[in-house]
Amino acid sequence: MSHLLFNDSFINGEFYSTDKNFSVDDPATQQSIIMVSDVDDIGVHKAINTAHDAFIKLKLTNATTRSNVLMRWYDLVMQNKQTLAELMTQEQGKPLKEALGEVDYGAAFIKWYAEQAKRSYGDVIPATDNNHRLTSFKQPVGVVAGITPWNFPIAMVTRKVAPAYAAGCSFVLKPSEHTPLCALALAYLADQAGFEKGAFNVLLSEDAPRVGKILTESNIVRKFTFTGSTGVGKQLLTQCASTVKRTSMELGGNAPFIIFDNADLDEAVTGLMGAKFRNGGQTCVAANRIFVQRSILDQVVDKLAKKVATLKVGNGFDENTDIGPLIYPKAKQKVQELVADAKAKGAIQISDDVQLVGSFQAPLILTGVNPKMDIYHQEVFGPVVSIIAFDEEAEVLALANDVPYGLAAYFYSQNIKQIYRVSEALEYGMVGINEGLISNPVAPFGGVKQSGLGREGGYQGLDEYLEEKYVCIKL
Ligand code: ADP
Repeated sequence: MSHLLFNDSFINGEFYSTDKNFSVDDPATQQSIIMVSDVDDIGVHKAINTAHDAFIKLKLTNATTRSNVLMRWYDLVMQNKQTLAELMTQEQGKPLKEALGEVDYGAAFIKWYAEQAKRSYGDVIPATDNNHRLTSFKQPVGVVAGITPWNFPIAMVTRKVAPAYAAGCSFVLKPSEHTPLCALALAYLADQAGFEKGAFNVLLSEDAPRVGKILTESNIVRKFTFTGSTGVGKQLLTQCASTVKRTSMELGGNAPFIIFDNADLDEAVTGLMGAKFRNGGQTCVAANRIFVQRSILDQVVDKLAKKVATLKVGNGFDENTDIGPLIYPKAKQKVQELVADAKAKGAIQISDDVQLVGSFQAPLILTGVNPKMDIYHQEVFGPVVSIIAFDEEAEVLALANDVPYGLAAYFYSQNIKQIYRVSEALEYGMVGINEGLISNPVAPFGGVKQSGLGREGGYQGLDEYLEEKYVCIKL
């Protein structure tokens, strides 16, 4: 048994248990890993109140001290990399090699914000009156609450908690009920690293709406940050309106991946494999609609089919596995319904029809996808490549932008004028050009339109947890 496996909520630096339990299941076997306690309302309020007490203590700290604590947290996460990755593969299903990569990636946010903690500069503003001295500076927003999803059980937590702590904020986190174990391990390590008691609380519950309602409607919580689906995000935004909270929302996407006829096709197909199949396609920045210029369509499909045929689906602990199970059976059912709808409306499946047990889903390629199909409009969140042929640049830009989402977009081109034109015309928060993997702690991650509000990563990610205070002095 792992020394980082816990089964109770973590409140004020202590484990908090209740009589009600729920099971955290291994998606590969659908067997229970462990029973964990479901936090009651008293626990939720206790977490909010202790976070408030911790915030008062944090106000007395300085940026260098918080930076040092964050660096210790980073070191502990890296020292426990193997254990954390195994915990992740067990509760989330992703291949162990990807889980190890996520620990590095998640830890990199902690290190980045340990550095950025020291850089929340203010401004001296030229006054309009000779007797005035105008300045502005940044202060922590206060108690933060966050809700995170299951697809990146470590990185989605560290990219919120690390900048919040760097800014001087305390945190109440409700991780996904499917992957609470990594979040608990992170909170335990943060406590060991020297986080003030109550500065990072984790609430376990399978009744997310109940816990979410208390967090969003609390007057003590001054900032709410969410990563998840657009539907739930809208509901939480509405709830946050009652107390006019600061909010950050990382919501769904429907990423276009465009291959122009002048692209290096081998690089484009390699990039697509990463952008599509990482985490079995269960990422909000996954390539969802693959637009290929008609003159190169056959070549691209051929190259892609050869690569897809080599992908191994299996238990994440098997070192040959490229694609683990989907998170739960309902997710697989949704993928299969989208594929069936597309095929009924004329899409052609290029790859073999392989049926696998449990939540395992074989990768597949569909050509002839069009806007009449549900798969064109919805996030697939599974290993399905949907290919759409196009003729002109203007046509593909119109198609790429004609969705309510605007998170990530990708395109492959070697024409420098086209690179500028297309990157400026895409209505997306992030654009990868000749690159399929773009997430990076040093860069601002986030969407436009219904893909969300705010940015995580970069210097911008710290500002999400800071308020600007303007001071006018008359001499
Ligand atoms: P996904 O489909 O990727 O799980 P969700 O948006 O359903 O995306 O879930 C993301 C997070 O939001 C999870 O932690 C989940 O428990 C939580 N959640 C889901 N529904 C609600 C809700 N009504 N209120 C608060 N949190 C919710």
